[in-house]
Amino acid sequence: MENFFAEKPKEGEPWDVVIIGSGPSSLTASIYTTRGAASTLILGGEIWGGQLMLTLLVDNYPGLPGIQGPDLVKKMRDHATSFGGELIEKNVDEVDFKKNPLELTAGGKKYLAKSVIIATGADTRWLGVPGEEKLRGRGVSSCAPCDAPFFKDKNVVVVGGGDSAMEEALVLTKFATKVTMIHRRSKFRASAAMKKKIFDLEKEGKVIIVWNTEVVEFMGEQKLNKLKLKSTKDEKTSELAADGAFVAIGHTPSTEMFKGNIELDRMGYIVKHAREGFSMATSVPGVFVAGDVHDYHYRQAITAAGFGCMAAMDAVKFLDNAQAKVENS
Ligand code: NAP
Repeated sequence: MENFFAEKPKEGEPWDVVIIGSGPSSLTASIYTTRGAASTLILGGEIWGGQLMLTLLVDNYPGLPGIQGPDLVKKMRDHATSFGGELIEKNVDEVDFKKNPLELTAGGKKYLAKSVIIATGADTRWLGVPGEEKLRGRGVSSCAPCDAPFFKDKNVVVVGGGDSAMEEALVLTKFATKVTMIHRRSKFRASAAMKKKIFDLEKEGKVIIVWNTEVVEFMGEQKLNKLKLKSTKDEKTSELAADGAFVAIGHTPSTEMFKGNIELDRMGYIVKHAREGFSMATSVPGVFVAGDVHDYHYRQAITAAGFGCMAAMDAVKFLDNAQAKVENS
């Protein structure tokens, strides 16, 4: 479709907004920036679509119950580009946010931008043991809020000892008959409040905690049916029957390319600098953030989409303010 809201910039001129990433936050941002009359380029990556592309069934996106993850993200892409947003399937190799206009290099080509929205997401950290990849979506998961209802009256395992693992277990106790937490040490690193909830559930018999143990293999043909475990104390191995296993050992934000250009926290997530009415601002004026690349807490498609909307509205306001300054000078 023709871009009826904003002209595409001429060669050598900056785009109003360049969005990096192509998951729900990016694609929602594009809907709002294009409808806000900002020329918009999405540098979506060679493998576009984000984590939804790896999600079999999405049952918690309002209005679209039971949709497949890839179908949802394809619908979003069509919508995101329907008002003139252009999506290029190239990885961003480098950025230079000290320059004005902001400069990005993707696939060996330079792109200029008056504003940028970073929506590069985060990747689930997996254990990397045999069977894990094969059984993903067939019993092995990393998202209890997405998949817990499929394990009603079943027997599930949660791997990890941080807040994410506690949260996964809390969600799962509402559905599963038995939730077994497997942790490699004898102490959880989660916050006191979260630990208390889990220990209370352990007393009620709803959660079983297996300390000093690692998962060394996920077993099953068509679907998961058991796990191979190894004691971190004496290396003894054992097997545990399970219908589901939730790996909750953290996430890695996709921020490697921004190091030295923008403030990141100690875990590599982008730090927000909310100021002057811009909720999604970063340490660099004109650069905004949306989705899992800054949000390690909610991490849902719907919250990512909401953050994308906010970042886009901030970017459009930033462009309007800059234009007003030029006109008043
Ligand atoms: P995390 O705090 O880094 O915890 C990761 C857990 O996984 C740790 O217990 C770690 O074990 C374990 N682990 C890591 N690699 C492993 C491996 N290869 N094999 C077995 N176990 C492994 O990550 P997170 O729980 O995702 O939390 C990340 C951040 O988000 C934290 O700051 C957390 O507080 C925050 N968060 C907050 C909330 C909340 O407030 N409700 C919810 C979720 C997350 P060790 O302990 O032995 O290192």
